[in-house]
Amino acid sequence: MKRRKFLKNSSLTTVGIVSASALASCKTENKTEENTLAPTSSETIKPIVVCTWNFHNATSKAWEVLSKGGNALDAVEQGVMVEEADETNETVGKGGRPDRDGNVTLDACIMDKDGNCGSVVYLQNIVHPVSVARKVMEETPHIILAGKGAEKFAYEQGFEKEDLLTESTRKQYQEWLKTSKYETTINIENHDTIGMLAIDANGDISGACTTSGMAYKVVGRVGDSPIIGAGLYVDNEVGGATATGVGEEVIRTVGSFLIVELMRQGKSPQEACEEGVKRIMKKNEGREDFQIGFLAINKNGETGGYCVHPGFTYREYSEKGHENRQVKSFYS
Ligand code: ASP
Repeated sequence: MKRRKFLKNSSLTTVGIVSASALASCKTENKTEENTLAPTSSETIKPIVVCTWNFHNATSKAWEVLSKGGNALDAVEQGVMVEEADETNETVGKGGRPDRDGNVTLDACIMDKDGNCGSVVYLQNIVHPVSVARKVMEETPHIILAGKGAEKFAYEQGFEKEDLLTESTRKQYQEWLKTSKYETTINIENHDTIGMLAIDANGDISGACTTSGMAYKVVGRVGDSPIIGAGLYVDNEVGGATATGVGEEVIRTVGSFLIVELMRQGKSPQEACEEGVKRIMKKNEGREDFQIGFLAINKNGETGGYCVHPGFTYREYSEKGHENRQVKSFYS
């Protein structure tokens, strides 16, 4: 089920748009113990895949790869590609909402079990930025390619040029132009980045993250999603983490790296995600006008997530089955 539909069908509809007024009654939740979602267990679950939000088709694709003995890197790439190609997903790949000039600019990254990584930022006219990021990782001595250079590289690698605006996003953009408010609109409806983490049958971990970024962002803006350590980080000895939400805040704390390091120090994925959000909130005391969601997995396949405002969920798929998990939040 798509995130938007999820909100419609749940009592969380009322917090669909996070604005200062709508959140005026929010209270800080300090019950850390009660916020533990994933049970601590010594049992190792593998293979397993998780992704931010309720992207059922994406996790199903990744699970298909993993359950046939495929590796975690292929699983996360092929998993997030489903959302990149889905024109009805207006926050990732084709059909993503454009920037203030009407251009769809995509950010993505990928990281494997050996710490190899690749990333593209501000990439236009290519449906699958995650695959271009993988090519950067595998075919160049570099990690990040940006803008026109990334696009040129993609064509050289055989990717085709495609208009990423759809009829729907073009219409919405025309509407937005009527007011074209300069400030970044911050709500949980316009940032549904997919970050995916997988462990394969060998116990190896990989991750991928891909987004069209904040809708109507300032031209040239790049968020956390393609930044290794911010929107995504994997350490095969420890686990992986990924983020969604207002990227600027995730970058300021190098969020995903922080969460993996907290797990290295002994925290569970759940505890590490909670600490990650709390670090962000410490730098933003009293601020309620933004959403962040963190998702983490450790080497045992134990998972956890935490967010600033209610509404963030993550999808998990393993031999135990698949489900969409509601996570606890800093504000209730
Ligand atoms: N993190 C993304 C960004 O800041 C937005 C999102 O999660 O949707 O670009």
